Amino acid sequence: TYFILLLITITRLISTVGNKTEHLNNNSLLSSDLISRHNLLDDPESLESASRDFGNLVHHLPRAVFHPRSPQDIASLVKTSYESPVPFTISVKGQGHSTRGQAMARGGVVVDTRALREENNSNKKKNIRVIWREEGYYGDVGGEALWADVLREAAEMGVAPASWTDYLYLTVGGTLSNGGISGQSFKYGPQISIVHEMDVITGKGELVTCSSHTNSELFHAVLGGLGQFGIITRARIALHPAPKMVKWVRLLYNDFSAFTKDQERLISINGRKHNNNDNNDDNVALDYVEGMLLMHQGPINNWRSSFFPLADHPRIISLVTQHSILYCLELAKYYDEKSENNVDKEMQGLLEGLSYMPGFYYEKKVSYVEFLNRVRSGELKLQSQRQWDVPHPWLNLFIPKSQIMDFDSGVFKNIIFKRNITTGPVLIYPMNRSKWDKRMSASIPEEDIFYTVGFLHSSGFDNWKAFDAQNKEILKFCNDAGIKVKQYLPHYSTQEDWTKHFGPNKWRTFLERKLQFDPRMILSPGQRIFNKD
Ligand code: FAD
Repeated sequence: TYFILLLITITRLISTVGNKTEHLNNNSLLSSDLISRHNLLDDPESLESASRDFGNLVHHLPRAVFHPRSPQDIASLVKTSYESPVPFTISVKGQGHSTRGQAMARGGVVVDTRALREENNSNKKKNIRVIWREEGYYGDVGGEALWADVLREAAEMGVAPASWTDYLYLTVGGTLSNGGISGQSFKYGPQISIVHEMDVITGKGELVTCSSHTNSELFHAVLGGLGQFGIITRARIALHPAPKMVKWVRLLYNDFSAFTKDQERLISINGRKHNNNDNNDDNVALDYVEGMLLMHQGPINNWRSSFFPLADHPRIISLVTQHSILYCLELAKYYDEKSENNVDKEMQGLLEGLSYMPGFYYEKKVSYVEFLNRVRSGELKLQSQRQWDVPHPWLNLFIPKSQIMDFDSGVFKNIIFKRNITTGPVLIYPMNRSKWDKRMSASIPEEDIFYTVGFLHSSGFDNWKAFDAQNKEILKFCNDAGIKVKQYLPHYSTQEDWTKHFGPNKWRTFLERKLQFDPRMILSPGQRIFNKD
């Protein structure tokens, strides 16, 4: 009986969604009166800019662009749409660092939150407001704020969030809509797990404060919710004392099994325990664990990092040629100047028994801010070479630990090797499922440990389809081999795929939350979950 009732509910929800979507798609033009009433921009330059993103693969023109000066401006726009006989779709564009048009709104309105940053700058308003509570420090940050600005201002006050992305020129709202992951996620969870409270504008135009205690359904819906349930205008995030320095190490492997075994070991080795019953992962000895592939097509250093000394390039390149693929384990431990001797000893202890290739150990000591902002210099270099705005047919996946060996042999050693086109970074590192809150919308594999693999391709304007074909082949291989991958920063074209992505229970919750918080299907059409065009 339960399954029949479930089936009827899902069918009803899908049919309601379908009807509303059709309604929207047939009527998405905004009147000139509305455009002038809300000071919307519809000049060609604004429209063109809102039809671009980092991916440079799809371009959807909106009908208008909105430069808000306050969260209330955004709420008023959403309310207008919600109360219109024919609603129009609204997308928020943070930095537009999506790759598949997720921040676009074909025929609707794009809210460019850069305008809020400019407004704050001109009023000399800080990006973070630090608050002290008995349990610790928190920071209030705008959804429009860049993590790079949050870091700079927080570190000046001696505090910092614990969880980051590799690249910091992304907005708080943009990463919290997905997850926000990096080498710290295994220990501190993704960025969505360090949020304590948010201000959110729902699809009804209501500005609601939510947390895991108050309006908790909205709170959990929005985190990892792909912009479907509300627009984040403020997030309260946990802060810790900011470390001063980072010992940053890279180790090379030619054996995938040894590489992953060591990664898994490192994310579980405990450092100093407070007492014998203390199994808290916060005591895991390292603060960051990532990894990447080195392949013969690409340079040893890439835009994500310039690490290996030039003098060592020839011997690394010759190893890559010999083995076709090398695996580079990357780890870091934070410390203060006072504890420099200790950190060296602790690191030595941690590396004992690891199976990297003897002699292929590299280390750096850098400031905490330099470490977190490590990708920026590569970006600026590519920008100066006009290589930053090229197409980016990226594919990001989560893979259960038990199937990572099958993935290696089918994808890295077969598809990637045969096609021989991969030149950009390929990242791979494990995370703990226990650090993700299952009430949140983000969808992850069922196993306790899962890997993230990111194919961060850059391509020419004439050959991105070859990378797209490779991405499709990888997904098909996983499907055929029964590898239960989930896409991170997902992009699907059918409802069936979205249902599969979330799984039946989570998808039902997703639909129910959509009907509750955005019943007229106004928000974030570029994700193409409810709005097809
Ligand atoms: P946009 O592309 O502008 O928007 C993305 C989605 O979020 C859209 O659906 C949009 O409508 C919605 N959205 C934006 N702002 C809000 C808001 N305030 N409220 C509600 N919804 C909103 N991700 C990681 O997790 N880890 C990484 O290390 C990482 N590195 C990256 C490096 C580069 C160079 C790039 C291009 C991307 C990287 N990403 C990474 C992916 C990135 O986190 C996502 O693409 C993120 O959405 C980008 O933020 P944005 O501000 O550009 O969002």
